[in-house]
Amino acid sequence: MSALFGNYGKRRARIVKGQGTIVEDSTGKKYLDFTSGIAVVSLGHANPAIVKAIHDQSEKLWHISNLFDIPGQEKVAQKLIADTHFSYAFFCNSGAEANEAAIKLARKHTGKNHIITFEKSFHGRTFGAMSATGQGKVHNGFGPLVEKFTILPFNDVAALEATIDDSVAAIMLEMIQGEGGVNSVSPEFAAAIAKACDDKGILLIIDEVQTGIGRTGTRYAYEQTILKPNIVTLAKGLGGGFPVGGMLGTAELYDTFSPGTHGTTFGGNPLAMSVAETVLDHVFEPAFLQHVQELSTYFVKQLKANLPSNYTVQGQGLLLGIGCGDAEVAPYIATAEEKGLLLVGAGPNVIRLLPPLTVSKAEINEAIAILKTILS
Ligand SMILES: *Cc1c(COP(=O)(O)O)cnc(C)c1O
Repeated sequence: MSALFGNYGKRRARIVKGQGTIVEDSTGKKYLDFTSGIAVVSLGHANPAIVKAIHDQSEKLWHISNLFDIPGQEKVAQKLIADTHFSYAFFCNSGAEANEAAIKLARKHTGKNHIITFEKSFHGRTFGAMSATGQGKVHNGFGPLVEKFTILPFNDVAALEATIDDSVAAIMLEMIQGEGGVNSVSPEFAAAIAKACDDKGILLIIDEVQTGIGRTGTRYAYEQTILKPNIVTLAKGLGGGFPVGGMLGTAELYDTFSPGTHGTTFGGNPLAMSVAETVLDHVFEPAFLQHVQELSTYFVKQLKANLPSNYTVQGQGLLLGIGCGDAEVAPYIATAEEKGLLLVGAGPNVIRLLPPLTVSKAEINEAIAILKTILS
């Protein structure tokens, strides 16, 4: 009998090691990992540069707490904000924590508490992040939720315009809803959000926990739109497999997070920062991001060429989805696993494709061949 709570529905394969895109289970069977541990292991499993960084730092200093200066935080912050309109970073340990920080910062800065979020969004499992999340299955049984979140239909300009007023502190959204079905923000919706924020002085929080750190082919997904968020939240890919979360903010927010207002024991510890620095040194290279875009173009083209036309191909970069109409994707995902391809769903009807950003064309071809046999 297991001594673990049953809050996770476990997959069949017992993965014991990995290298690059390939992972191996306890029987020695190999799989192409097109989940990257849910958009986390962006530089592949056991990446030598990350292995070295964590090893070297582990012999110096693991943890000292935020009572002291942590030079690694400054380095990672500088890399995250370079050539952006952001001025400051805060580090924590997860996506939910990054969003909690963002919600607190937005409330305190504006002196208002009303935050607009969207249906099918996912922002995490802590109380604030859960209350921001637009999915009943995430809320059920846990009420009362944190007050003053209004959850609107996604990409619905009229609903947004009807709700915007002087009570709104912030609008919070993902550029591509990852958990909720690989749904991208439409250009019209982005324009309406930008206008609402401008007109009413509303803060814009973009949750880039899944879309950030190169996943969509640019450092941050918002860079491909007209949106200029006041706050961006990060996690998943930032640590390449080590738990690291982060929040970026613009200059005018600085005074709001004065000493003692917010914090975390583990956040931004030297070990975490050594890994994040290594991740950014690789992923933020323009040639690397360019390569992600090329791989994405290739992947999308192959998907469209090889899958029957009733499937839709969604998303951007290497955050892609195969829309399966009304069909449940769980059986497809189980069959793919048997055939040596690890996938994850995005809602009940979309297969999510999240290979490491270091995936090769040959590995994409192998994945396409397996997907083709399953979906044809
Ligand atoms: C995964 C995810 C989160 C939550 O991150 P955790 O590290 O699990 O707390 C928040 N927002 C988005 C968009 C995510 O994909």
